Amino acid sequence: MAVHKVLTGQKALVTGANSGIGQGVAIALGQAGADVVVNYIEGDDAANKVVDDIRRFGVNAYAHQADVSSEQDVAGMFKRIVQEFGAIDILINNAGLQRDAAVHDMTLAQWNKVLSVNLTGQFLCAREAAREFLRRGVVPAVSCAAGKIVCMSSVHQEIPWAGHVNYASSKGGIKLMMESLAQELAPHRIRVNAIAPGAIRTPINTSAWQTRDAYNQLMKLVPYGRIGEPADIARAAVWLASDHSDYVVGTTLFVDGGMTLYPGFSTGG
Ligand code: NAD
Repeated sequence: MAVHKVLTGQKALVTGANSGIGQGVAIALGQAGADVVVNYIEGDDAANKVVDDIRRFGVNAYAHQADVSSEQDVAGMFKRIVQEFGAIDILINNAGLQRDAAVHDMTLAQWNKVLSVNLTGQFLCAREAAREFLRRGVVPAVSCAAGKIVCMSSVHQEIPWAGHVNYASSKGGIKLMMESLAQELAPHRIRVNAIAPGAIRTPINTSAWQTRDAYNQLMKLVPYGRIGEPADIARAAVWLASDHSDYVVGTTLFVDGGMTLYPGFSTGG
C-alpha cells in the first residue's frame, strides 16, 4: 500500500529503531516524508542500514546510540536532535524488551530492567519531547499540533501474562502514563496516543512463530488467522503521527488481529 507524504517537513525520533517494529516504523515515517532519528542501544550496522533505507526516500536520517533508561543519554539525544534538525515534531516511544521468568524465580534485576527500559524509558523520552514541544508551540505550516507522542504498548496492557509479570506491569503502566500525559498536554495542542500490538513477527518473540507448531498454537489466539508484521504497526504509527488523526487524543489503538476479543469464547466459552 502506498503511504502518502503526510509527514513532509516533520522531524521524528523512533526509539529502538534498528530492529523489528521500530525499524518498520522509522522507515515508514521516512517514506511519509519525515526526517528520522534512528535510536538504538546496540547493533551499529543494523542502525546504519535503517538510516540508508530511510535516506532513499530523499529525507534526512541519522543513527543515535542511547540507552532510553538513562536520563543523561536521553537528554543528550534530544540536544543533538535540536542541533541537527532544529526541532522535533514526533516521538515514537518504542524501545522495549522482555526478561521472562516465573515469579518465584524472577530476580529484582529482571524486574528493574524491564520497568526501567519499557516504562521509565518512555517517561524520560516523553518528558524531553514535551519540553521541546512546549518551547516551540504550534507551527501551522508543519502540523496542527505542537507535537505528537506515540507510545508502543502491547495487548498485555489488558491481557494478564503469567511468566511475564514484569513486562505486563510495564505495559499496564504505559496505559495510564500515556492517558495522564495526554490529559495534561492536550491543552498545549500536544497529542499523546498509544499503539497496542498483538503478535508481530520480530526478534522479541521468535519462539512464538518460528516453528510450524508454535505458529499454529499462536493462531489459536488470533481470530484474524495471521501473525502481524512490522508494516501493520508502521501504518498505524504514521497515521497517529499525522494530522489525519488530529482529533485523536489519549487513545490506545489495538493492532492485534482480534487478539483482545477473547478468542477462547468463540465457540461459546
Ligand atoms: P525488538 O527486540 O525487535 O526491538 C526492540 C528494540 O528496542 C531494539 O531496537 C533494541 O535495540 C531496542 N532497545 C532495547 N533496549 C533499549 C534501550 N535501553 N535503549 C534504547 N533502545 C533499546 O522487539 P520489537 O518486537 O520490535 O519490540 C518493539 C516494541 O514493541 C517493544 O516496546 C515491545 O514491547 C512492543 N511490542 C512488540 C510486540 C511483538 O509481538 N513483537 C507485541 C506487543 C508490543
